[in-house]
Amino acid sequence: MILPKNSRLTPEQLAEVTAIVTEFGCKIQPIVGAVRSIYAIVGDERDELMINRLEGLDYVERIDRIQSPFKLMDRRSDLANHRLKIGHVTLGEDLLIIAGQCTIDPKNPNYYLETSLAVKEAGANALRGGVWKPRTNPYSFQGDARSLEILMDASRRTGLPVVTEVMELEHINLALDAGVHVLQIGARNALNYSLLRQVGRAIAGRTTAVMLKRSIHSGPLAEFISAAEYIAAFGNPNVILCPRGTQPQLEGYRNQPDESITPLLKEKTWAPVVVDPSHSVGKAAYVPAAALAAVAYGADGLCIEAHVNPPHGIGDDPKQAVTPSALAELVKRCRALHATLRPPAAARA
Ligand code: PEP
Ligand code: MN
Repeated sequence: MILPKNSRLTPEQLAEVTAIVTEFGCKIQPIVGAVRSIYAIVGDERDELMINRLEGLDYVERIDRIQSPFKLMDRRSDLANHRLKIGHVTLGEDLLIIAGQCTIDPKNPNYYLETSLAVKEAGANALRGGVWKPRTNPYSFQGDARSLEILMDASRRTGLPVVTEVMELEHINLALDAGVHVLQIGARNALNYSLLRQVGRAIAGRTTAVMLKRSIHSGPLAEFISAAEYIAAFGNPNVILCPRGTQPQLEGYRNQPDESITPLLKEKTWAPVVVDPSHSVGKAAYVPAAALAAVAYGADGLCIEAHVNPPHGIGDDPKQAVTPSALAELVKRCRALHATLRPPAAARA
C-alpha cells in the first residue's frame, strides 16, 4: 500500500509508480477516501527492490506492509481514518437509524410513503425499502422494479437517503441510475464473490455506499470482513458491515442474534457496524431489546423494519415490522444509550 505525502498522487506521480510496479508484475489500484487516497499494490508486493524504489520517491510518505487477509478493511490500514457519511450522519459519531418497510408493495405505494414520513418523524435518518426480494419460495412475491420509483419518491419527499437490496448486476445498474444511496447485499448473497466484485466495480468513483449483511450461515469473522474487502478493493471503501443474525436458529428467534460480534469486528476492522435487529429476532416485540443490545455492544447504527400498518405489509412486515410509535420509543432509548456510551467528540477530547 502506497501512502502519498499529499492527499493524492498527481497524474504524473501515479504514472511513475505504475511504471515501477509494472516492472515487477504488479498493478496499482487507487482507493479514494474522503480525505486522502491510498494506492494498493496488486500482485506480489514483497519484492524488496520494488519497495526500495517506491520508498525512494520524495512524494511517498511510506509503504504500508500489513500482513492481513483484508489489507484495506484491517483496522491497521490507512483507511482507519476513513469516515462514511450517510445523509447527514457521520458513522462513528452519531447513531444512524435506517428504518422502513421490508418490502415496497407496488400495488399500495401510499403505504411506503406514509411509512417513510412516519419513520422520519420517529427519528430515522435513512429509509430502507425492498424493491427486489430474495424469497425462500419461488412463488412468493419477488419484488418489482417499479417499486424503485416509489422508493426514490419517498427519498425526495423526506429528504432522506435510501437503502435497497440488489441481487444481480441489473439491479445494481438500475439502483445506481435511480440514485439509491446505499446498496444492500443481503445475507443470502453475502459470500457471492462475483456479486461482491460487481458491486465494488459499480460503486468505484461514486459516493454510493454498500451495506453488507453477514452471511445467513455464520462463519469466521475474517470471512465477513474479507467479503467487505472484495467490494473495497475496486476503489470505493464505503462499506458498512451489518450483523443480522445467523442460522442455526435459536428456538423462538428467527435467527441466532449476533449483535455481540460488534466489539470483535471493531478489534479487526475500522468498518462501521450497523446492526439489523429485525431479521435477527424476527418478531416485532423482541426488536426494541435487540436494538438496545446492539447499541450497548457498540453498533454505529441500526437497520429496522417498520410499517404504518404491519398486518397489511408484505414480505417480513406482518411479523417483524415495528409500528412508527414503537420505533419512536426505541429510537429515543437507543439514542440516549448511545449518548451515554459515547459522549460527544468535544467531551471526549
Ligand atoms: C431484508 O433486508 O429485507 C432482507 C431480506 O435481509 P437479509 O438479507 O438480512 O435476510
Ligand atoms: Mn425483510
